[in-house]
This record gives sequence, structure tokens and C-alpha cells, in this order.
Amino acid sequence: MMARSHVIVGLAAWIAAAPVLHLSPADPVYLGLAAAGSLLPDIDHPQSWVGRRARPVSSVIAAVLGHRGITHSAVAVVVLIALLAHAGSRRGAVSALAIGYLSHLAADMLTPRGLRLAWPMRRTWGLPVCRTGSPAETIIVILLVCGIAWSLLHAAGRVGGLPFKAIHWPIYPHRPVDVTAGTGPQAPK
Ligand SMILES: [Zn+2]
Repeated sequence: MMARSHVIVGLAAWIAAAPVLHLSPADPVYLGLAAAGSLLPDIDHPQSWVGRRARPVSSVIAAVLGHRGITHSAVAVVVLIALLAHAGSRRGAVSALAIGYLSHLAADMLTPRGLRLAWPMRRTWGLPVCRTGSPAETIIVILLVCGIAWSLLHAAGRVGGLPFKAIHWPIYPHRPVDVTAGTGPQAPK
């Protein structure tokens, strides 16, 4: 995906995940770290937004390890979290950077090339639904942001649930049975 899409997805992922982690979704430091994390994996590409700004490093990584290699794998996520934790970084800062980073990997998995999540294994994983820079990428990003905005408003009680929820599909939990209102045997008085 494009750098702009990665930042939007990273910020949206952080805003959605922060309340679950009991952290402030609006903290500007966390938002900045989530945005940074959402761009960081592409340091393995000298022509990417972050790669152009870290050209010597990105050129070396691209030449030695290639694009969408170790920086787009579970190894990188584990190493990143371990290094930050070892350096004494705050839980919130580590979480924001890690969620931004993970959002980048999830977004890249939507492109045809997929990701080598288990690097150095060569197998790739992905759900190819859009090409980088295509109109489909823009539509997916817009739908994601709208979906997260709706879920946050719904959680805050500002909007109602989906209309088909009233049909009681099996995936939704049914209301608990009120045992006192049934027609079963009454307790002796
Ligand atoms: Zn990438």
C-alpha cells in the first residue's frame, strides 16, 4: 500500500485498539508512534517514504535482505517489541509502535505479493484484494475507517446496531432467558 494509506490504517488501528489496552487513543505521542510504526517496515525499500529519508540504511537492507523480507515478518515484530522493552520504553509507547507496525503488515497482506510472515521461510501469506495505489486500495481504506468510526460510535451509544442483528443470527448471542417470567412450575408460596 501507499505510505498515506499505511498512516491512515495505522492511526485507525491505534484508535480502535487503545481503549482495549486502557490507553488514550487521542494522545499525540501515541498517535505519532502509531504513524511511525505504520511506515517503518518499508525501510527495506529505498524508494518508499521512509526509505528515501533513511537512504543509506534502506539501500543496505534492500541489497542484503530485499523488499518485504525480514522487516515484513513476525521476526521483526518480536525483535522490535523486545528491543523497546529492553530499552525501558513505556507500555503505551511500545503498544502504539507495535500496533502501527502490525497494521502495515496486515495492509500489505491485502496486495497480490503477500508477505513472508515466517521469514526466512519463503512461503507467503496474503489475501490479495487490491494492488498498491489502485482505486481498490482507496476504497478499502475508506471502508476500514468508516467501519472503525461506526464501531466506536456504536460502543459509545451514539448509533444503533446493524438492522439484521434483530433477526437473531446464530453468531449473535441471544438475550438471557428470564427464568422468573416463564410458564414452568411456580415456587411454592
Ligand atoms: Zn510494506
